[in-house]
Amino acid sequence: MATPVGHALAGLVLYRSLERGEAGFIGRKGLFFVAMANLPDLDYVPGLLTGHAHAFHRGFTHTLLFACLASGLSALLGPLLGWNRARAAWLGGICCLSHLLIDLLTADWKAPYGVPLFWPFSKESFLVPVALFLPPSKASLPDLFQAWNVLVVFMECAVLSPFLVLVEWKRRKKGGTSE
Ligand SMILES: [Zn+2]
Repeated sequence: MATPVGHALAGLVLYRSLERGEAGFIGRKGLFFVAMANLPDLDYVPGLLTGHAHAFHRGFTHTLLFACLASGLSALLGPLLGWNRARAAWLGGICCLSHLLIDLLTADWKAPYGVPLFWPFSKESFLVPVALFLPPSKASLPDLFQAWNVLVVFMECAVLSPFLVLVEWKRRKKGGTSE
């Protein structure tokens, strides 16, 4: 389960690869990408409020069913951002799926392990055997500021930033509108 920084970077990579209509590096649509890429971790909020951050984590919001619902939510919001509903559904869904993919690629050292992708049809949780990301320490709010998490964020940036650089390079090569 990566940090919001890692998920935001993934959302940014998707935004800069799939959208060309906004001036500047990131606009309202870019913020939508970043928010949707982080959406599944909303399940931390009730736990953080009750002092047990993981109490509700890795449940319903980390399933393909939730990704479908996020896609539906995006379809509703799409016209507000200038997309038709079908494109908004696709973009919101792909952002949510990026979250699940990154979590699948994150080492998990505490039970319950993995991502319950197919819940409620299967209770099995999944993890890719070779992790690319380290698990952050985030049992409580103060935990977020531990030195360990600096290393975790550094690793996320080291893995994901090259994708952003590649996307920017391709945009500039094609003469994108925001340069
Ligand atoms: Zn997550």
